[in-house]
Amino acid sequence: MSKHFETKAIRTQTERSQHAEHSTPLFLTSSFVFEDAEEMRAAFAEEKKMNIYSRFTNPNATEFVDKMVALEGGEAGYSFATGMSAVFNTFAALLNAGDHIISSDSVFGSTHSLFKKFLPKWNINTSYFPADDLDAIEALITPTTKIIYAESPTNPGVQILDMEALGKIAKKHNLLLVIDNCFATPYIQQPIKFGADLVIHSATKLIDGQGRVLGGAVVGRKELIREIYLFARNTGPSISPFNAWILSKSLETLAVRIERHCETALRIATDLEKHPKVNWLKYPFLKSHPKYELAKKQMKLGGNIIAFEIEGGLDAGRNFLNNIKMCSLTANLGDSRTIVSHPASTTHSKLSDEEKSAVGITNGMIRISIGLEHHEDIMNDVLEALS
Ligand SMILES: *Cc1c(COP(=O)(O)O)cnc(C)c1O
Repeated sequence: MSKHFETKAIRTQTERSQHAEHSTPLFLTSSFVFEDAEEMRAAFAEEKKMNIYSRFTNPNATEFVDKMVALEGGEAGYSFATGMSAVFNTFAALLNAGDHIISSDSVFGSTHSLFKKFLPKWNINTSYFPADDLDAIEALITPTTKIIYAESPTNPGVQILDMEALGKIAKKHNLLLVIDNCFATPYIQQPIKFGADLVIHSATKLIDGQGRVLGGAVVGRKELIREIYLFARNTGPSISPFNAWILSKSLETLAVRIERHCETALRIATDLEKHPKVNWLKYPFLKSHPKYELAKKQMKLGGNIIAFEIEGGLDAGRNFLNNIKMCSLTANLGDSRTIVSHPASTTHSKLSDEEKSAVGITNGMIRISIGLEHHEDIMNDVLEALS
């Protein structure tokens, strides 16, 4: 019988060395040795599964990605130095000049820059559909379209996209569905079950969960991962063994951490929604969320990101940040430390008001990434800043 999530996250482990260690050690080595010419030949011919060089594979990188594969329910995977190298290598390995991507308009900032500024250098262009209107996708499909790309929940607007519907559209038109599952983690949702061909992660966020290291992974169909692996092993976006070691250890506690993140987020969202200075609040597991039913269907828990609007626009948003005492003002999210941010004056300051509202951002909007501190201390900090 297939093991449960928590067990796979702990017991998927690289082979023990001659020292019979219980916990996987750190393999800081750039290369691996062979017994003789025949073994070396077989390793290079891929007849014998062995590590050759840490740009290709390393025991720590393999253990980390094997866990990700087990948790996402994929066939294979490859790990990367960052989430963005996972995103870029996926496109670079699978697309040719002239190919076309259809993406949700609400994607991570650097992914957006990749679509707008860099992929067009190789004549790979992207069309966008509104994250809340999947019916717009089919009209964007052209003979050169290869990939549908999306995130759910989105950041910072906390929109929810119907992954099963995306999977059906992709299948009907013979396109690849690629989902960035960073905000949910495989504990909350497994996009492959809904029809995704590939799932991308920035492990920097909830997977590390303690704001220490950067990392990324792509998990999914074997033949696609093979293409991505061959591209990556020749271009070198490999994860460091140290970061992979940290991330593999982090996965051992992912389930308990996510449970607590989400329990605290739901409590705080429920209370904060009633505050007189809060115009609106979005959290997937509150009935007030426009996609509440869908969120309940495709997610196990509501996640750790809350978005809300403070009465008073841009100034009120900035004032709130200036009066926060404990929570951190930083560019990360998914940390054990609660993080507050004001997208309109920072990450999304270059967008017009119309562009902002299209991705669910308003001038008075605050995003909170709920950490693992006690819920009363987080709530008190937020309440004091609001008053
Ligand atoms: C942070 C993030 C990335 C990029 O990850 P890095 O590890 O910072 O390169 C990609 N997608 C999403 C949704 C993210 O939040």
